[in-house]
Amino acid sequence: MRCLSRLIFATIFLTSLTFHGQAQDSMTTTLIINANVFDGVNQKLMPNTDILIEGNLISRLGTNIEAPSGANVIDAAGKTLIPGLIDAHWHVTYAYTPASILLLNRGDMAEVAIRSMTGAKETLLRGFTTVRDTGGNPFAIKKLIDAGEYPGHRILPSGPFMSPTAGHADHYGVPSDTPRDKSYLNYWERNMMAMTSDGVPEVRLRTRDILKSGASQIKITTGGGVSSLFDPLDVSEYSVDEIKAVVEEATNYNTYVASHVMTDVGIRTAIEAGVMCIEHGFFASEDTLKLMKSKGAWLSPQPMLEADMNWDDPISAEKFKQVTAAVADLYPLAKKVGVNLAFGSDQLLDASKAHQQSEYLVRLGKWFSPYEVLKIATSENARLLELSGPRHPYQEGPLGVIKEGAYADLILVNGNPLENLELVGNPEKNFVLIMKDGRIYKDNLKNSIDINQSNIEQ
Ligand SMILES: [Zn+2]
Repeated sequence: MRCLSRLIFATIFLTSLTFHGQAQDSMTTTLIINANVFDGVNQKLMPNTDILIEGNLISRLGTNIEAPSGANVIDAAGKTLIPGLIDAHWHVTYAYTPASILLLNRGDMAEVAIRSMTGAKETLLRGFTTVRDTGGNPFAIKKLIDAGEYPGHRILPSGPFMSPTAGHADHYGVPSDTPRDKSYLNYWERNMMAMTSDGVPEVRLRTRDILKSGASQIKITTGGGVSSLFDPLDVSEYSVDEIKAVVEEATNYNTYVASHVMTDVGIRTAIEAGVMCIEHGFFASEDTLKLMKSKGAWLSPQPMLEADMNWDDPISAEKFKQVTAAVADLYPLAKKVGVNLAFGSDQLLDASKAHQQSEYLVRLGKWFSPYEVLKIATSENARLLELSGPRHPYQEGPLGVIKEGAYADLILVNGNPLENLELVGNPEKNFVLIMKDGRIYKDNLKNSIDINQSNIEQ
């Protein structure tokens, strides 16, 4: 009887909260029992461990934890629990949007948003519970996901990536289109997808605009890119004074600047001007990686192969060939130097290829042990995200780790990915449970026990 009245009370209480999606979720209690836990940091698994999740955080780790009343109990026997994966170089609004819309400067933000929502859901179901968005406009999508109104991953947005005229973010078409009156913004700039700015006063203004929009870090480009048409790979973008001005604005806002750049000279210039994360960085020399290490900066490359992307434009295809040829040298060099290394997959412009995100993670196994790979994609990537300081949008607990007080972003793997990294390459088959923020988005176990139900039967 007491159980029944408690159940009735609980039901009324939960019903009263159904108008507030998050509030109801925050009441959820889940107990995962008998899991072998990879905590994101230590190589040794914690065997047969129970994990209590209350609301959106992990509240207890241990053995023989008693299930609180109303808890959803999941038996994870024989499986491995790992932290939700983090992709440190992702584009919510580019990954699922075709080049015919974005690069040819004709498209509609409504279409971009719809495609991106699908992308956020699919990415979450690949086990990526957090992404650092390194260019584009994911602000509204982030808002809806964080409010629990739409399934998706966490997002640390950079807002529009910013380059000078003729740089990687120049979507003005032929040079004569470039407006002399820069109070004018083109469609993609007005919609915060990409931004050009020239000269110190303007880069300061645009950086402030982007921070005002809610960016957790700033992304600029200081060297040539593959997809863009006006910047050969060898060029340097922005003057030292302009880079320093962006860095000063970001620093004043208590966050940092990441820069897309590949050449050794461009990387060195960016690092010396205060940039803290190098995106791509494929042609970095050993000396430059050592300089980055001494500054505590991060390298965020992608383990790409030439066959990964199709380019309509032969210039982009040739650039991609040069870039992918450098990958095999960069990773061992970065490992030897010991520079902070992130994992980011940078899937672009093709929804049908976005699943390569998982395969890229497996590719790191060529240079690193499965333990090292999983540590990079969880706690190490989370450490990079911490560079956002007070601008980091998720402040309740740490990401990328399984410990008391951490966010309950968890994946249950059928098998042990520290012995067989290939398991993470096929999340659809091998990730049997995916939780983000304490909420289950995928459950293939079907062995959950509803404590409320068992109480009724008593
Ligand atoms: Zn990118």
